[in-house]
Amino acid sequence: MIGTPIVGLEIHVELNTRSKMFCGCTNDPFHAPKPNMYTCPVCLGMPGGLPVPNKRAIEWTILLGTALFCDIALESKFDRKNYFYPDLAKGYQISQYDEPIATDGKLTFPVGDPTKGGYEKTVRIRRVHLEEDTGKLLHQTVDGKKVTLIDFNRSGVPLVEIVTEPDIRSGDEAKAFLKALHQIIRYLGISTADMEKGSMRLEPNISIMLEKPSDIIDEKDLPKYKVEVKNINSFTFVKKAIDFETERHTKLLEAGQIPPQETRGWNEDKGITFSQRLKEDAHDYRYFPDPDIPPLVFDQDMINTITAAMPELPQNRRERFQAELGLPFATAATLIDSQELADFFEKCIAIKGVDPKQVANWLVNKHIDNSKTTPEKVVEEIIAKTTVVAVSEDTMNSAIQSVLSQNAQAVADYKAGKTQVKMFLFGQVLKALQGKGDKTQIQKLLEKELGN
Ligand code: ZN
Ligand code: MN
Repeated sequence: MIGTPIVGLEIHVELNTRSKMFCGCTNDPFHAPKPNMYTCPVCLGMPGGLPVPNKRAIEWTILLGTALFCDIALESKFDRKNYFYPDLAKGYQISQYDEPIATDGKLTFPVGDPTKGGYEKTVRIRRVHLEEDTGKLLHQTVDGKKVTLIDFNRSGVPLVEIVTEPDIRSGDEAKAFLKALHQIIRYLGISTADMEKGSMRLEPNISIMLEKPSDIIDEKDLPKYKVEVKNINSFTFVKKAIDFETERHTKLLEAGQIPPQETRGWNEDKGITFSQRLKEDAHDYRYFPDPDIPPLVFDQDMINTITAAMPELPQNRRERFQAELGLPFATAATLIDSQELADFFEKCIAIKGVDPKQVANWLVNKHIDNSKTTPEKVVEEIIAKTTVVAVSEDTMNSAIQSVLSQNAQAVADYKAGKTQVKMFLFGQVLKALQGKGDKTQIQKLLEKELGN
């Protein structure tokens, strides 16, 4: 028997604000001309550097928290999370501990196609907080020597951390959740959320219950251990890591052992997780309020102004496409996956004379690249390909006559019993009519002629 995974997710997302979280340096580590270009005393952790919080980053965190149905705190603060690592020049990360910007939210999303055996799932969001990214270590060989280089262009980039409750029960649910969250982040326009570049980093924490768990598990009934898999950069790898851990823990548990509480890494070549270090507890970080940054105080008006910029969110848009336009789930889900494609679709159907279902199918089935065409062109193509140009019966008959007289051998074959020749002749007639005319009528006339 295989146990059920009890999974919570921690997701780090780099915000694409113009400047960094606590200084005026350019926030664009991926396009910096050289390492350590976008740095200053603050993000290098020099003595005397004083942090000033980035207003836009705070606003975007409030926006994301609201999109996830969180309570937005009217008072919040930044704390120091103390630990040593070479990519962390200050010896601490400015983060948020006990007063995060947003708490107690939820995300509802489809797992599979709910109209075909899939289902809707809700995962509770524990918190959304704001912190800063670290520098980046580069392990290279220089002059024949193995060295580690450090680039601080990323140091101090605004980083949002989203933490879920342990409500996820399978690798597939984790993948579907992450896809839905990724869509929201992209719709809000607050991050590129490019996972290959590490702008969105995924960390599942996993434990296993051998007996069937309930949807929401009481804190006291959770397994007494959990394993965290660090820094995964694809939804599929998260699913695979969860599946792998589920099997590994099940074996240990069935042998009467409790899997050690630890942090593991994901080896994508081998498709396995591996032990990195025993997990540290929160108190090891000696969190305390950052004395350099005053507490954040908001009023409801400010929060309302910020959240007034909320676009229609992807799952709402999908539901609207299904309910108002009668699109099937799968088609609507494909259209809303990118906001650009969904916008393009809506521009197409605003043009009179096309059926929304026809446009949706056209865009989805033909994999139309909306960046390379215009709604007008697409609608024109659809109309040209699907509209029947009326042709008189006489015109049809004369086209049939000329095709039959030009293909005497085929006609003879047909009369000798080779019935499949009919499709060839039919094709020839359509060609002669240049695609015009009602196809059913043409077929009937052709059959009548051949029958004679
Ligand atoms: Zn700086
Ligand atoms: Mn974090």
